Amino acid sequence: MPKSAPVPDFEIAGHSVAPGSSATIDIPVSRLPTDLEVSMRVRVIHGRKPGPVMFVSGSIHGDEIIGVEIVRRLLREVSAKRLAGTLLCIPVVNTYGFIQHQRYLPDRRDLNRVFPGFAKGSLASQLAYHFTQEILARSNYGVDLHSAGLHRENLPQVRISADRHKAAELAQVFGAPAIIVSKLREGSLRQAAADHDCEVLLVEAGEALRFDELSMRVGVQGILRVMHHLGMGVKLPRKAGAKSVQSRRTAWVRAPEGGIFRAVKANGSLVEQGETLGYLADPFGDSDIPVEAPGGGMIIGRSNLPVVNQGDALIHIAEVERPGTVEDRLSDIEDAIFADGLFDEDEIV
Ligand SMILES: [Zn+2]
Repeated sequence: MPKSAPVPDFEIAGHSVAPGSSATIDIPVSRLPTDLEVSMRVRVIHGRKPGPVMFVSGSIHGDEIIGVEIVRRLLREVSAKRLAGTLLCIPVVNTYGFIQHQRYLPDRRDLNRVFPGFAKGSLASQLAYHFTQEILARSNYGVDLHSAGLHRENLPQVRISADRHKAAELAQVFGAPAIIVSKLREGSLRQAAADHDCEVLLVEAGEALRFDELSMRVGVQGILRVMHHLGMGVKLPRKAGAKSVQSRRTAWVRAPEGGIFRAVKANGSLVEQGETLGYLADPFGDSDIPVEAPGGGMIIGRSNLPVVNQGDALIHIAEVERPGTVEDRLSDIEDAIFADGLFDEDEIV
């Protein structure tokens, strides 16, 4: 588009949004048994200047709420007057799960396994279909915000697939503590996005149903950095973090038997092969065995429910490419995240 050409209205779900303005659009999804309508609500910020279309989505899994707070904070930093391009924010994609504090839809389906969806499919499939048609098909870029499942927490990390060079570049710009290169899952939003030529960063941070200040700050700053990198006319967080730690292989350490687990390593810890990650005892303490790291790497996720059955996933370890630099990088990233003057609001503790 030549520079002088006026930016056209942004069309979505039968509505149009004028350049330099924002609007909240309800995309109808279904009717509840009570006859109340359920919509997927999108805040459209349509910039005055031309630029890419980027979406930010949260609560694809209804109990993963950190993304909702990331979107709330992000919206304070973005104005339609300064924006170049269009930002689509969908803080709560899976309303059904969100209001019930549940990961899934009422039909027990996982929304992130039914993409691109089908207009006449299951409820989950219909919701995925609306998202694909209205959001993915219109977007050049996207950030999909997730958290670990119930009773687990993730070190903030960006997941990308091996063959997406642009996504790899954006993941570096995002600046989360870790970048995990992982395979695309069948039926995932990320896979459907690839079919629409939309580059998506999947962000995993914190725990379901809980807030976590580090995760939220990493999320907001990462999105703003990516938008700045794409020339979307936003202010850049003042201090740049260190380079993310990258990994191509991760594995869960599982409980060798049932018991009460006491973890002694936190997320972000660097561990060596054979190092003790925690102890597994019976309730009387008669048996108390160490659980050791089967290989070296960085802890990127862990269970925080100490009562475990044999085979339960306890600690998620990522093999890292340059282990010698991990601890310095993580502390640099954390310092930058908390030093940033962008946030004049109270820290959630
Ligand atoms: Zn999720």
